[in-house]
Formats: sequence, structure tokens, C-alpha cells
Amino acid sequence: MRILIATSEAVPFAKTGGLADVATGLARSLGDLGHEVTLVLPYHRRFVPAEIPVEETGTSVSIRMDERDVSAEIWRARLANTPVDVLLIDQPAYFDRGGLYTESGVDYGDNCERYAFFSRAVMEAARKLELSPDVIHANDWQTGLIPALLEAKYRQTPTFSKTASIITVHNLAFQGRFPGWCMKYTGLDWKYFNWLQMEFWGDLNLLKTGIVFAQKVTTVSPTYAREICQPEFGCGLDTVLASRSEDLVGILNGVDTSEWNPSVDRHIPQRYSAGSWKAGKAACKRELQRESGLPERPDVPLFGMISRLTDQKGLDLIADVADDFLRNDVQIAFLGTGEAHCEQLVRSLALRAPDKVSAVIGFDEQLAHRIEAGADIYLMPSRFEPCGLNQQYSMAYGTIPIVHAVGGLADSVVDASGPNLMHGRATGFVFHDYAAGPFAGKIRESLRLYDARPTRQSVVEAGMKRDCSWERSAAEYLDVYRGALEKLPD
Ligand code: ADP
Repeated sequence: MRILIATSEAVPFAKTGGLADVATGLARSLGDLGHEVTLVLPYHRRFVPAEIPVEETGTSVSIRMDERDVSAEIWRARLANTPVDVLLIDQPAYFDRGGLYTESGVDYGDNCERYAFFSRAVMEAARKLELSPDVIHANDWQTGLIPALLEAKYRQTPTFSKTASIITVHNLAFQGRFPGWCMKYTGLDWKYFNWLQMEFWGDLNLLKTGIVFAQKVTTVSPTYAREICQPEFGCGLDTVLASRSEDLVGILNGVDTSEWNPSVDRHIPQRYSAGSWKAGKAACKRELQRESGLPERPDVPLFGMISRLTDQKGLDLIADVADDFLRNDVQIAFLGTGEAHCEQLVRSLALRAPDKVSAVIGFDEQLAHRIEAGADIYLMPSRFEPCGLNQQYSMAYGTIPIVHAVGGLADSVVDASGPNLMHGRATGFVFHDYAAGPFAGKIRESLRLYDARPTRQSVVEAGMKRDCSWERSAAEYLDVYRGALEKLPD
């Protein structure tokens, strides 16, 4: 199958969160399965590592944006050790900036214009390069316009006459909602600005646009697929999603095991596998304590948390349990960046208990690997979590996650309670009510488990042996692609 994946970020070209891991992991896996995959993303020149070879295609596109023509050069790269082609849309005024979507915590004011341009440039690049994809896979609001462009503008073009589109919702909290007048950037007729298609309470909504026009809609876990059809998790789009429920599929993200795998990880001080985790993790823990300025004590339970610091990630619960937590003989290493009040909370914990809490405010991919490897227990009390990658990385690294039973957290972690423990299925701790009491209860259970060595070993090893491969998820995406193609009229 010829598959074009359009995304605003992909490792190692640009990353702010899980989408970047997912785009690359899926593309790599589909490529390995023998499919012809092209990944298209904006050329964020400042973020592409210098050692990645990038060449000009000699092709450019020109898009009429409101009243001016904006052009972009198309560059080509390769996803390392894969057959996957990467196209980079080079429009420096839009994409050669200090951030991807925000700078100093503030959204760029022209984000609608930037990503409408990107979506239109993807279609034009595909047309000019005659990619003739069977499927275009859009991701999140940044590429939500693509399914609409395909139906409204490109369906009659021979290159696209048999192309289906799907869109994956990675996080419904981000919808790309802009004032209605931003329609002028979409290149589409105003007739589409109605409540059944692109309009949402008087605004333009790019994610809704994608959901309405794509042949199939996926999201990143089966539980989240059910949750988002309900008002509580639907962020206002629950009825739109429910109306597409026959075409809505939840597929749990895999883990890119060439990047997140303790037996090959180049960022950690000692590699290890399920058979050698005790020595390996002990060495990684020592290093992490040293690097974090925490006392180098092998016996103390070391917690980790790596996160965008936003309300989504359960920082309010961390604040609520902090007093209790710090009364224990524990350590915790935080890494994160985000909203000022969340950053402040984490900083203040580190100031209050410097021998127990380390806080790195910033984005540090390598430290993220070292925390996953060096920590014993991982905290992920997210209020909602479409899929979540860090709980999966934790299990793969023998670090026991404590999670709230929502979205992909509920689908991936098996609670260390009676029968699960007895049958060696338990991989972590899962609390159900989003409240300090249940969360603190699971922290206490995790501390008891930490001291109960044989049981802890069973939980660690069940997590490390869990199948988190992308092959499984990629096979499910292929089914969705086939289903999307079947929906096209003959
Ligand atoms: P989300 O996409 O909602 O941010 P996920 O758990 O799906 O959450 O993915 C987060 C990804 O971003 C993980 O790979 C995680 O390690 C990484 N990450 C988040 N914050 C940081 C940070 N401050 N430094 C390094 N990596 C981070």
C-alpha cells in the first residue's frame, strides 16, 4: 500500500510530545512491513539534527493564502535504517522559529495560517511529486484540513481519485479552533463553514473538519475511543464523534523499540534486559541520583515523572499528596516543562525537600531516558490520557507505573491486585477515582511492593516482557486503511 502520513512533528526531525514518537514509530513499522510510506512534516530547520542528511527535491509549491502567494521548497530525507521517505515542507517564515506551536508558553498568533498552509502544501507536494497515495493519514488538528481538501478540491485530480483519508486524534483537548474569518486560509469555499462540517459555535475547528471529512477516524486507545463519545471527555466534540462511531477505532500506540528499549538505549549508563535488570537498573539509579543531586542510596525508592506540565497530567493530585509523600523515605526526579503554575509547583517541591526531590524544568530527551531507566516507580496520574507513552516506556524499562484508569493508561497497565498478582499479570498500579485518596493509596501500595522483593520482581518482569511492539498496532492501522478504501465510491 502507498501511505502518506502528514504530521506536524516526527522524531528525530521535531518533537514536542507523543505525536512525534507515534508518527515515526508507525511509519517505520509500516515501512518494515513492506509498504511504501512517505512521512511529510514542516521543515523546522532549527530542530533537525545537523547529522541528518537532507537534500532538495527541486520541487516547490505555491499556495494562494488569502491575498498573497506563499511558496515552499520541498526537501527530502530518509528515516534512518528504514525505506521511509521523509518530505520536509520548507517555508521559513512559518516554520523556522524558536518553537513548533508556541514560544515562551504563548501560542503563535498565526497558527491557523501556518497549518492551513502546511496541509495545503502536503496536498500540492503529493500532486506535483505524483505520489498517488492509497491512503493519506492525517494527525491532529494541524493536518485536519487535509481530509476536507481531498474531498472538496482534489477528488477529481487523477492522482487522488482513489485515495482515502483517515485522521488520528492524539488528544482531543487540542482542536485547532480559530475565528471564523480564518476560513480565508483554507482555500475552501465558505459553503463548508456550517455546523455539520467546519464550523463549531461560530469558529473554524480544524480537528472537527478532519473528523467530519475523513473516511475513518482513529484515536490512540480503545478506552479513549469510547470516552470521547461522552460529554465528560468529548471536549464539545462528543456528538460529532458519536455520529462517526461506526468509523471510529481506538488503536493503542506501540513503542518505538529502536529508541525506547533498555537493551539498546544509547542514553543510559548501563544497558539491561529482563534477564539482567537488577544490576542494570541499580547502575542507572546510581547515575540518576548523582546527576540529579540526590543522595546516592540504592535502598531508597526512587520515583520518576516526565511530563508536559499541564493540568491534564494530574499535577493537582501531585500537589495534594505531596505532604504525605515527602514524609516517607523516598526520592523523586521530575522532568518537565509547561504551564507556569505547574512548573512552580514542581520547583517548590524541590526547594522544600532538596534531598528528596529533584526538578529539571526543560525538555531533555536524554534525561528522559535516564529517568525511565533509573527510577523504580513512575507517576502518571493524568486526569485524562488518550494513550500515554511514558507508562509504556516505564514498563519496558522495569519501572513500575502508577496510573489513573483512563484512556490508554487503563488499556496498558494491569493493576497489582489479588488475581493479577497471583497469575503474574500485574504490571503496575491503577487507581480509579481521580482524587488524592486513591492516588495516595496506590503510592503506599507501591512502597510496600518495593520492599516485597519476589513480588516486585514478578511485576517488573511482567512489564518488561509485555508486547508493546509497533507491529501489532501497525497491523490494526492497515485494517483501518483497508476499511477507509472500501468506503470510497467505485
Ligand atoms: P503527551 O503526548 O500528552 O505529551 P505522551 O506520554 O503520549 O504524552 O508522550 C510524551 C512524550 O514526550 C514522551 O516521549 C516523553 O518522554 C516526552 N516528554 C514529555 N516532556 C518531556 C520533557 N520535558 N523532556 C523530555 N521528554 C519529554
